[in-house]
Amino acid sequence: MDFKEYIRVIPDFPQPGIRFKDITTLLKDGKAYQAAIDSLKELVADLKIDVVAGPEARGFVIGAPLALALGVGFVPIRKSGKLPGETIEASYDLEYGKDKLAVHKDAIAPGQRVLIADDLLATGGTIATASQLVRQLGGEIVGAAFLIELGYLDGRAKLTDIETRSLVQY
Ligand code: AMP
Repeated sequence: MDFKEYIRVIPDFPQPGIRFKDITTLLKDGKAYQAAIDSLKELVADLKIDVVAGPEARGFVIGAPLALALGVGFVPIRKSGKLPGETIEASYDLEYGKDKLAVHKDAIAPGQRVLIADDLLATGGTIATASQLVRQLGGEIVGAAFLIELGYLDGRAKLTDIETRSLVQY
């Protein structure tokens, strides 16, 4: 399936100069959404994953169904102040703006093999920070999987120590 046909590109959102990749047009199509999750599952089939972790909010939309498809659990990585239990936190820069991510201290057991999943790899800041949190808890990052990779921002350069895979590249 050509997933690009289902992804809508919106210029100048949320700021001038950003070409926003809108995946809602893919998500609302059941066959395309299912095919995307199936393809991501294939893409990471060799990684021996214990748990999938994904950052809020679009990382949930990709990470949770991918976890179920793989038959493993899902760990939400959230914006600061949203998780009810004890957390660890880390700050980072976005393609646009700044943010802080948090994860429950007991979300990942030491030695667990963790796949990070998100909708899109831009600068890599989100995933570098999410990975830092997972590693702080003793998790081993076995890979990062994305629906979309913006090759022109070279987020991979920030993730040199992480096996990075994506379904669609721009
Ligand atoms: P980054 O930390 O720079 O890799 O940014 C990753 C997150 O920002 C992704 O989870 C996306 O949800 C969002 N994002 C950044 N740039 C774009 C873009 N051009 N189109 C859609 N989402 C984006």
